[in-house]
Amino acid sequence: MTEEGEKLISVVVSVYNEAEVLERFCRETRAVLDRQPWDYELLFVNDGSVDGSLDILKRLAGQDRRIKIISFSRNFGHEAAMIAGLDHSSGDGIICMDADLQHPPACIPEILEKFEEGYEVINMVRTKNESAGWLKNLCSAAFYRVINVMSDVKFQSNASDFFAVSRRVAGVLKENYREKVRFLRGYVQNVGFAKTTIEYEAGVRAAGESKYSIRKLFRFSVNTIVCFSNLPLKLGIYAGVFAALLGVVVMIYTLLTRDGAPSGYATIVILNCFMFAILFVIVGIIGEYIAILFTELKDRPVYIVEETRNLEVWRREKN
Ligand code: UDP
Ligand code: MG
Repeated sequence: MTEEGEKLISVVVSVYNEAEVLERFCRETRAVLDRQPWDYELLFVNDGSVDGSLDILKRLAGQDRRIKIISFSRNFGHEAAMIAGLDHSSGDGIICMDADLQHPPACIPEILEKFEEGYEVINMVRTKNESAGWLKNLCSAAFYRVINVMSDVKFQSNASDFFAVSRRVAGVLKENYREKVRFLRGYVQNVGFAKTTIEYEAGVRAAGESKYSIRKLFRFSVNTIVCFSNLPLKLGIYAGVFAALLGVVVMIYTLLTRDGAPSGYATIVILNCFMFAILFVIVGIIGEYIAILFTELKDRPVYIVEETRNLEVWRREKN
């Protein structure tokens, strides 16, 4: 039990095949946490790892009851892991971070200071991402450009999945942001409350390799745009107006020139292809929205927990 008055920080760590780095992560993070005035719990969410990460975690949890495990029945994705962590943590403040040491544990003291100052949402912004490579960095920049133009809510570029929220904000995320297709860090930036940012340098991965392929990131980007913006749906209206104007121009041109009907075969073919292309793209966009509606409607669980360790320790009354 924490002593009366002592605050508790929950560190949520998503783990997917991180066996190579887990022990080092745990050692380095605890070295930092041990020196803080807040008590801590280290909540590992095992997202269906198949490389023995769970065994390592169980061993660590066996040695220290402050190390907790939620283990999923299969891989549900990084965001699902963070959501499970937010759901099950009992701290006054909750930090979400990656297991690969790209999110430096050395930032934790600064985060706790911000909590002490009264901030409830602390976004960690990376100044440099050494391991991502130019293509990923370029795509990431382009993505934020597009989403900020299209969406009413604004996103900070370079915000990462490294963030900290108060217990109250975690409660809001838990109750009101249960979408199946989602963008967690977008929600974190847009729930309001007193918020601040801390800059950090994302180092190279300590070991293992990135679990995010370009394809996954692309899917993720499309989902996010669809989630946060209705603008693509309006493309149909713009395209319709455009086609109507084009029709009027061609009509006037034909009436004025009166150069006989047979010529213009190429024009017809090109216009046909062009118009159908627009039409199919719009149908595809509507399809994306319907797919997401369907996913939400089915209301399948965000994650399924198979087993846990030490979760009962420090569990406070839910409010
Ligand atoms: N991760 C996860 N489930 C997944 C993919 C990744 O829990 O399906 C975890 C992974 O173990 C790591 C974090 O999410 O702790 C970030 O993943 P990664 O380092 O591969 O992403 P990157 O840093 O390259 O964006
Ligand atoms: Mg990483």
